[in-house]
Amino acid sequence: MALIVQKYGGTSVGSVERINHVAEKVIAARAKGDDIVVVVSAMSGETNRLVSLAKSMADPPNAREFDVLLSTGEQVTIGLLCIALEARGCPARSYTGSQVRILTDSAYNKARILNIDNERIQQDLTAGRVVVVAGFQGVDEDGSITTLGRGGSDTTAVALATALKAEECQIYTDVDGVYTTDPRIVSRARRLERISFEEMLEMASLGSKVLQIRSVEFASKYNVPVRVLSSFEDGPGTLIAPEDETMEQALISGIAFNKDEAKITVLGVPDRPGIAYQILGAVSDANIEVDMIIQNVAPDGSSTDFTFTVHRNDYKQALSLVTAKAKELGAREVNGDDCIVKISLVGVGMRSHAGIASTMFRTLANEGINIQMISTSEIKISVVVNEKYLELGVRVLHDAFKLEEAA
Ligand code: ADP
Ligand code: ASP
Ligand code: MG
Repeated sequence: MALIVQKYGGTSVGSVERINHVAEKVIAARAKGDDIVVVVSAMSGETNRLVSLAKSMADPPNAREFDVLLSTGEQVTIGLLCIALEARGCPARSYTGSQVRILTDSAYNKARILNIDNERIQQDLTAGRVVVVAGFQGVDEDGSITTLGRGGSDTTAVALATALKAEECQIYTDVDGVYTTDPRIVSRARRLERISFEEMLEMASLGSKVLQIRSVEFASKYNVPVRVLSSFEDGPGTLIAPEDETMEQALISGIAFNKDEAKITVLGVPDRPGIAYQILGAVSDANIEVDMIIQNVAPDGSSTDFTFTVHRNDYKQALSLVTAKAKELGAREVNGDDCIVKISLVGVGMRSHAGIASTMFRTLANEGINIQMISTSEIKISVVVNEKYLELGVRVLHDAFKLEEAA
């Protein structure tokens, strides 16, 4: 008998009918003889509704109270799912994050899980019950409710699977696996049978929100096999697991994109040691994360141009900080652009193949798509382009690298 953790996302529990359907799926899985722990999200749209409610009162809302509010979405779903299970004669018990005691740090809205007490869950499983846990939430040392960041129910599921030494963590969602790119953008995207932790981590960090980044970090650190599956149709899904050395590596596994970034450029800053530190220091002191950075020196070497990207939510604040700093440093001009998108190719096969970057650049050039920034690592190449080219760019790259064909 194995222990399986199943997580159902917002769309999968989006209505009473869908929660009933989840109850049937849980009962069917249990009938195979496995112990089942279920993690659920809030019903689709609910967390957004709570966010707007809070922001209509104060923006930003008090961080502690914001988490008290946001955590209620998942509490509704655990109650409804257990009612559905019990009504079908399946013994079940629901727990909020704090009842389990999913201990987190106190970073409200983006707390990290520190420890999970699995005693109550184990007792329930031994007594033959299904355990249903509210995703996305925990409790800190002081007993305050915390939440784990948007999409955090994935992380609750993987963390529980780790703590309970589950055989597999199954993430049920509204697509039947991880695709070569978001199937909502490219209809010819192909479902992957398998993807390595490392590649999934890159895909998630570069914008593929099918899994929260932290859930992949957790899975990779503790070696928990994760499978992404559809709640609505049967199928093998996609297994996320350690790199399979015996398999021929695909050159490119997938294309990720991120619509949440904005770009800031400082032109004509005197080129002297410490300039990068002075500009970016002002930004990081405000707790704003910087992603891509490019610095160019003017032909006469006297001044430099400096471009970097930040999250769009931080754009206005970063622009005003940098404008003030640039004035102080005697820069010629500061400008910004929040109509950009970052498109990234990801694949461990890149390690051993040259020429991928040039194919990428040629493909975009053939469509008249201007590249504004480039960054590379061992297993990814990212470019920043105008956001109007998102769909076209992803589609032509998907074709150029023949991603619709199985590797
Ligand atoms: P849930 O509410 O179940 O957590 P999410 O909306 O968080 O679901 O994640 C599923 C969505 O992720 C899909 O509907 C899809 O549009 C999007 N997505 C982005 N990139 C990919 C990808 N490479 N493969 C599959 N889905 C992707
Ligand atoms: N309900 C939360 C959100 O919408 C957490 C989750 O669904 O994973 O972000
Ligand atoms: Mg999600």
